[in-house]
Amino acid sequence: MRHVINLSERVHLFPPKPEVLSERQKADHIANIKELLIEKEAVMVVHYYTDPEIQSLAEQTGGFVGDSLEMAKFGHKHSAKTLLIAGVRFMGESAKILTPEKNVIMPTLDAECSLDLGCPVDRFSAFCDAHPEHIVVVYANTSAAVKARADWVVTSSIALEIVTHLDELGKKIIWAPDRHLGAYIANKTQADMLLWQGECIVHDEFSSNALKDMKNVYPDAAILVHPESPASVVQLADFVGSTSQLIKAAKELPHPQMIVATDKGIFFKMQQVVPDKELIEAPTAGVGATCRSCAHCPWMAMNCLKSIELALKKGGDQHAIYVDDIVRLKSLIPLNRMLNFATDLQLHVKSNI
Ligand code: SF4
Repeated sequence: MRHVINLSERVHLFPPKPEVLSERQKADHIANIKELLIEKEAVMVVHYYTDPEIQSLAEQTGGFVGDSLEMAKFGHKHSAKTLLIAGVRFMGESAKILTPEKNVIMPTLDAECSLDLGCPVDRFSAFCDAHPEHIVVVYANTSAAVKARADWVVTSSIALEIVTHLDELGKKIIWAPDRHLGAYIANKTQADMLLWQGECIVHDEFSSNALKDMKNVYPDAAILVHPESPASVVQLADFVGSTSQLIKAAKELPHPQMIVATDKGIFFKMQQVVPDKELIEAPTAGVGATCRSCAHCPWMAMNCLKSIELALKKGGDQHAIYVDDIVRLKSLIPLNRMLNFATDLQLHVKSNI
């Protein structure tokens, strides 16, 4: 049996757009960042949704581009003293939780996530307290405090496997905060899930009607969809998966064109993997001023070359991530559960090859 709760308040604050830089300014920032990375013994760990020039710089300087789970693993293993995390704040917090001995800095601490903002720890904790018979599974896109209240943390690349595992153990599940991903997983697994009603403003905006029209224009294209999208969009997909899984699918599917329903920042890495294929942005419900995100996360867009240079130069309270020790130790437990589960799963997969 599946339950759905309704929350009347959803917090969607919109950050300012970053300053537009000239080519000369960009080149200066890039040169300075390269020097600072060496001087500070730092490495760039960046998400697929950041701007292509940031992803490219991370690759040029020995850093990493990936999804949030891969970012956390890379930062944990790397020998750098400082991790420069370009993404949104929960990614910086996850890095600090896993690697407290390192200096974790971000271009801006104001880079939020609508899922994190829509799941404040006090209300979420009260909700969990009201359903003590449920195991608490939260998506990585949450604050350290919400993770500390959870039994499991998951990312979109491993959520299905973990919920299947818990369902097989007969557990009832509280799922937070993304309602679309939660509904997708509940539908796939038939697990007993109580869904928190959060949403990603980027994926929530993809439109199934406009996508059907687009498919008529590109009949040979495969449709790739991130499961944070509405069910009506997921239903049209040839493949549904996390960012890394979508990139892999773009390579493996035979189609010459891909219509991609996730943040368009992913095109930088996806195009590297399929240089001969045409990548097409899936349509959102609005265009220009009428869409909330226009398929690009406004908080991811706050990561810019200028703010990366500032973070490396200054560090300090405006850029460094701090996580309270008690919260950190509590949140480490569900995070490590996920990482250990992922490791076991890989071993299992390998042993079956
Ligand atoms: S794309 Fe969506 S889920 Fe990702 S950080 Fe932005 S608002 Fe959050």
